[in-house]
Amino acid sequence: MVKIIEYQNKNVIMTAAEIAQFEVQPTPEKDPVALQIEGDCPRCKHTMSLTHYLIAFRGVAPTSPESFQQMLEAASLVPTSLLPTEFSVQCSCTEKHPGQKGKGQVGCGAFWRMRCE
Ligand SMILES: [Zn+2]
Ligand SMILES: [Zn+2]
Repeated sequence: MVKIIEYQNKNVIMTAAEIAQFEVQPTPEKDPVALQIEGDCPRCKHTMSLTHYLIAFRGVAPTSPESFQQMLEAASLVPTSLLPTEFSVQCSCTEKHPGQKGKGQVGCGAFWRMRCE
């Protein structure tokens, strides 16, 4: 049983081992528009998964990488080589951490940088 730590907005520097246990899956495999990320949060150790979109448009909230890519294709905006990329990931575990502000806030507040080649 993992002790539930308090929510805190905190920049985490990950160790190589913590980075290595994350699985990053570019989606779709060819000309990916998103990364499926799964692993244990380096701060609270809860398993989390999230979809990181490599491009964003104002007012567009994609429901899935597939539908997002279809939308891009329909608009003749087919992205190529969005990788390598470096980006921020925020803990999005599904546990309740004391101190979370408002509903919709998830995770323990930790965030960190990741890189995908
Ligand atoms: Zn957590
Ligand atoms: Zn966390």
